[in-house]
Amino acid sequence: MNSEIKIAAEIIRSSSYVIALTGAGISVESGIRPFRGPGGIWTENGEPPLDGYQHFMKNPKAHWEEIMKRAGSMSEFAKSLDEAVPNDAHYALAELEEMGILKYLITQNIDNLHNIAGSKKVAEIHGNSQKLRCIDCNKRFERDDPRITVDILPPTCPFCHGIIKTDTVMFGEPIPRDVLMVCQGEASRADCIISVGTSAFVYPAAGYPLEVKHNGGSIIEINLYETELTPLCDVSLRGKAGEILPELIETLKHTDK
Ligand code: NAD
Ligand code: ZN
Repeated sequence: MNSEIKIAAEIIRSSSYVIALTGAGISVESGIRPFRGPGGIWTENGEPPLDGYQHFMKNPKAHWEEIMKRAGSMSEFAKSLDEAVPNDAHYALAELEEMGILKYLITQNIDNLHNIAGSKKVAEIHGNSQKLRCIDCNKRFERDDPRITVDILPPTCPFCHGIIKTDTVMFGEPIPRDVLMVCQGEASRADCIISVGTSAFVYPAAGYPLEVKHNGGSIIEINLYETELTPLCDVSLRGKAGEILPELIETLKHTDK
């Protein structure tokens, strides 16, 4: 492993625009279960319906009434999202940005942990569970923003009167255009991508490592297990993100530019 971490550090040092793609696996050590793979919520309970957004759009009022009704009894997953704190992997990526090495972080996670850990350049491609979003103008609001009133459901945007929904991207919902543009721009600029804790299964995010590779760049993977991406990776680091990423940073600190 040590020699593979060294190879990864050398690739990073010789790259000029390094980005990261993170998935549910990076937050497992913070107590948030993944959906797929061993211990995954969907592995145990099956996948939810694929038309969540169409349901929402058919009757946003009913959807909001359901949210209000459930407010006092959160699911185990929602509770873990609310209570989780960043782990060493989140802090390591924030440090990598601080060191001037990591230029951007694309996360599929909705748990807000990269922001709490101090990462500044973050694109949350599937939204943020702590936020609300207007489906027309894409403005984001904190969940408890006093401008969003729930006296009349569904709540509407104080700027354009569009319908407000949770920022988390539902099944069947298009990725908001603003964040999609950022992700596409970053993936096309990058000559190295560090893919951490993602099964590399959900598009469009799963396509970014492929794009970096196609453009002649490198892929570094950090995952407990092999994924569909593994055969394309320049180096695959097997193990927990919370252990490997800090080790990678230490190695980078002792690797000359
Ligand atoms: P996934 O659930 O499909 O896969 C998780 C991956 O992480 C697996 O490949 C697994 O082997 C790996 N993994 C598990 N523990 C790890 C660890 N400690 N260190 C390194 N790797 C580890 O996740 P995905 O690819 O992100 O796709 C699932 C979708 O579900 C995402 O789009 C995301 O929006 C959503 N999701 C988010 C959260 C969250 O916000 N924390 C949690 C569950 C699901
Ligand atoms: Zn609006």
